[in-house]
Amino acid sequence: MTTLRIFCVANQKGGVGKTTTTVNLAAGLAQIGQRVLVIDLDPQGNATMGSGIDKRALGRSVYDLLLESASIAEARQSSPKGGYDVIGANRELAGAEVELVNQERRERRLKKALAQVRDEYDFVLVDCPPSLSLLTLNGLVAAHGVIVPMQCEYFALEGLSDLVNTIKQVHANLNPDLQLIGLLRVMFDPRITLQQQVSDQLKAHFGDKVFDTVIPRNVRLAEAPSYGQPGVVFDPAARGAQAFIEFSREMVARVGR
Ligand code: ADP
Ligand code: MG
Repeated sequence: MTTLRIFCVANQKGGVGKTTTTVNLAAGLAQIGQRVLVIDLDPQGNATMGSGIDKRALGRSVYDLLLESASIAEARQSSPKGGYDVIGANRELAGAEVELVNQERRERRLKKALAQVRDEYDFVLVDCPPSLSLLTLNGLVAAHGVIVPMQCEYFALEGLSDLVNTIKQVHANLNPDLQLIGLLRVMFDPRITLQQQVSDQLKAHFGDKVFDTVIPRNVRLAEAPSYGQPGVVFDPAARGAQAFIEFSREMVARVGR
């Protein structure tokens, strides 16, 4: 028997490593035998492109899923190198927010769609946009948990409290299954004293909600998207790739499977 796990990769700040985490965790999980579906919930379509799928040439997309004009089976594509499936996104998705405004159960569209593939995957990873919008809300309502990538910088903790409050509210009002799975330290540079200090504060405050794995700053991870590949596929030996493989194992150990 399989238990599908649905996780949002969320942080309302942009450029903090959400998409990098999503595609590399997806590829890492695929490499250890997990069946993975990535949902790109960001109109920027970076997870789509970073998985080797051209966002300008999408047939059906997340937009169609939310507007109920396509099923998951119609909208998914497989990442050519990643070993996982993707429901892609592009700028069209930005319009979904407006079009959904007067529709019923608009925050439950993704959850409803994912029920179609309950038995086909082990993990669904939802790459959220940098906002706490209706799109992100669809992710949070559908998910069992939230993975929060963060850089250990001065204002990181402050930004975190908004997200933690949102998770609490969604948990209380819309989705009792939702949990904070963990905080992932990314783009980490141990030579920077401030990053060490913020990392220590994080652990003091959030305890075992901080993942053991730390993702280093590594240029190979940043180069990979322009080749349409997750870093763990593009250069498996690179330090960043190794860290994401380790993180994939930690996730499986932590949430079971
Ligand atoms: P988000 O999805 O939160 O906006 P991204 O994953 O797109 O963030 O990351 C922002 C930028 O930082 C991208 O250019 C990405 O390639 C780069 N990046 C992400 N993680 C790392 C890392 N560990 N080392 C180096 N560069 C990284
Ligand atoms: Mg992104």
